[in-house]
Amino acid sequence: MSKEELSATQNFGFGSRLSQINSRQDIPEHWLNTPIEDLIGAHNFQKPIVASGEPALLIVTCIEYRFQPEIPNMWAYVNRCAGGRLAGSEFSVSYILAKGVRHIALIGHNDCGMTKVVESKPLLIEALVSQRWERDRAEDFVEQNAARFMMQDEIDGQKREFLRLRQLFPEVEIAPLFVSIASMRLHIPKWYFDYLKASPESAQAKVRPEDLLML
Ligand SMILES: [Zn+2]
Repeated sequence: MSKEELSATQNFGFGSRLSQINSRQDIPEHWLNTPIEDLIGAHNFQKPIVASGEPALLIVTCIEYRFQPEIPNMWAYVNRCAGGRLAGSEFSVSYILAKGVRHIALIGHNDCGMTKVVESKPLLIEALVSQRWERDRAEDFVEQNAARFMMQDEIDGQKREFLRLRQLFPEVEIAPLFVSIASMRLHIPKWYFDYLKASPESAQAKVRPEDLLML
């Protein structure tokens, strides 16, 4: 795939749904002077992060091998899960909270395999069968988890997870960021600005009850 095809802003119809961060003015005020600004600085302004030795941030992102957060050792917790869905790993959040961390960067990316889960199901089942799983068990497992991890679209999938985490952990700053695989630059999904203007109740109403169930 060409670099252009892997650009979130030039392809995939994402360009109009992402806000670019080209200067400090493009960063929401409540993220300034926080670890969120530091992370954006490392990716977009070539400003390496200086670690204090204390954990500053939790990064939640996809398992995607083409993306590595540009962070130093001794700075952030990182929870990587398919599609950046933290469902089932909420315990990790209780741990980082206990360690004093109050900022989460939820990083989505373009060209995510979790948009292709439905067509990948047979391959996933075969992968488990090759590990000596019984076929019935492999089929049930893939069926149940596919519903949890699949997303129609990377930006909508990220919004769904953001709203869910927002409701579960309302006293933490959660920053939805979106990385373009082609450039490693971070963007802000435009829905976030609408979210900031809307009432907390309306955001709460958008969380599906089944999304709040922890497995
Ligand atoms: Zn992904």
